[in-house]
Amino acid sequence: MATATQPKARTPKPPQVKDQPLFIGGKWLDSVSGKTFDTINPATGEVICQVAEGDKADVDLAVKAARKAFEEGPWPKMSAAERGRLLHKLADLIESHREELAALESLDNGKPYRDAYNADLALTIKCYRYYAGWADKNHGKTIPVEGEYFCYTRHEPVGVVGQIIPWNFPLLMQAWKWGPALATGNTVVLKPAEQTPLTALRVAALAQDAGFPDGVINVIPGYGPTAGAAISGHMDIDKVAFTGEGSTGQIIMEAAARSNLKRVSLELGGKSPNVVFADCDLDAAVEGAYFGLFFNQGQCCCAGSRLFVEEKIHDEFVQRVLQKAKSQKVGDPFDPETTQGPQVSQEQFDRIMGYIESGKKEGAQLLTGGNRVGSKGYFIEPTVFAGVRDEMKIAREEIFGPVMNILKFKDIDEVIQRGNRTFYGLAAAVWTRDIRKAHRIANGLRAGTVWINCYDVFDAAAPFGGFKMSGIGRELGEYALQLYTEVKTVYVNLN
Ligand code: NAP
Ligand code: MG
Repeated sequence: MATATQPKARTPKPPQVKDQPLFIGGKWLDSVSGKTFDTINPATGEVICQVAEGDKADVDLAVKAARKAFEEGPWPKMSAAERGRLLHKLADLIESHREELAALESLDNGKPYRDAYNADLALTIKCYRYYAGWADKNHGKTIPVEGEYFCYTRHEPVGVVGQIIPWNFPLLMQAWKWGPALATGNTVVLKPAEQTPLTALRVAALAQDAGFPDGVINVIPGYGPTAGAAISGHMDIDKVAFTGEGSTGQIIMEAAARSNLKRVSLELGGKSPNVVFADCDLDAAVEGAYFGLFFNQGQCCCAGSRLFVEEKIHDEFVQRVLQKAKSQKVGDPFDPETTQGPQVSQEQFDRIMGYIESGKKEGAQLLTGGNRVGSKGYFIEPTVFAGVRDEMKIAREEIFGPVMNILKFKDIDEVIQRGNRTFYGLAAAVWTRDIRKAHRIANGLRAGTVWINCYDVFDAAAPFGGFKMSGIGRELGEYALQLYTEVKTVYVNLN
């Protein structure tokens, strides 16, 4: 995510965190079962605290609270402008707690504190402000129908919305979900990822301070197959929004279909082609390709994980990327010098190491990295493979880690064809000084976002989402309002 010119953050100490409850109907509660689970610091593998483990019974309570808040009390009577004001207040509170939230995000997820402060928090705050502005601007139309009728449309909230988010950008994914849902008047039940529940709960407390009525937002930490499944299969949830793995998206869509045909929006993974032509600005392309893959420890759905480099500059490009990989500082997320933190969990660590093994076995050239760093925490060296071929597993599947795959290409038609040979279609990028090539790539690649001579540029106003198996629907921007509204048509007899 672009981090252009944000203020430099000083680095605090890792915070101390108390055990955490669920947030339902404006109350902080233990789970019905009384169960809790550990949330782990990925830099050490140690337990940070216990978190109440939500399950079906808790989701039921949260849905009841959300339904009540949707139908009764202040929320449905509140003016759209007032909803906007609450979102602005929440953005202000997040901003005044920026250091605290960045530290909590860094502790729970492992991302460098500096990145959390500069990128995640900046984008999160902007997202809430952007949707605060939309609250009173999303209006219907008057329609010139035949006959003596006056016809108009209303954009109404969908109702109670379930939202299931991943661990790679916990605060930001919550903002992408809550911003448009709350601006348009829905009530929400959010399940944060089991690995990173802490910041979602902290933001819920800030939302309560901002004055959101009880039940408008509910946060149920817990596991996917229990709490998550209770949301996607619930008969009284009107829509489910999900970000995460494709196979989970399929389970959620099926559960939505089998229960009450709730609306489904999905933001899933990618295997995004990043195309570097020989006529590029090489310094910029190396920086951009590195950032586009290694940012956030490689844990980005839109990571440029198939790096196509034109044959003519291939060897020089590889040398420069290697220099960069070898100059990184992998370690403590709270050390201001750190450029790469740990992977989020033991499970992700093992999965990535498995992909590195598979790359070696299938004959890709491992040029640097490939090993664990240190003896505690889930750190992996920045890893670069060259000589990667399209059919290798590391070129087909989402690795979600600090593993760069470099593939050679000769000409533009070939690279468009190979770039599209995937079930995914989330993002793509191209590096060239030739405007015709840039636009041919932008038109030719089937992806929801294309970056030309840049990577990971995000703005709350610009839509993001996937073609093909990378998702359904667009988040951010005006487009996301459609995910959270129903259109109602009203005819008035004028006779
Ligand atoms: P995941 O299982 O799809 O997790 C995403 C969210 O879905 C979590 O909150 C998860 O709960 C929940 N979930 C899991 N199973 C569910 C079910 N049956 N019903 C309802 N909700 C369910 O992804 P992951 O296991 O954390 O990561 C695995 C891989 O997914 C990664 O290696 C990466 O390739 C990909 N991924 C993609 C993105 C993205 O932004 N596109 C983000 C994260 C991961 P739990 O917390 O209990 O798992
Ligand atoms: Mg999972």
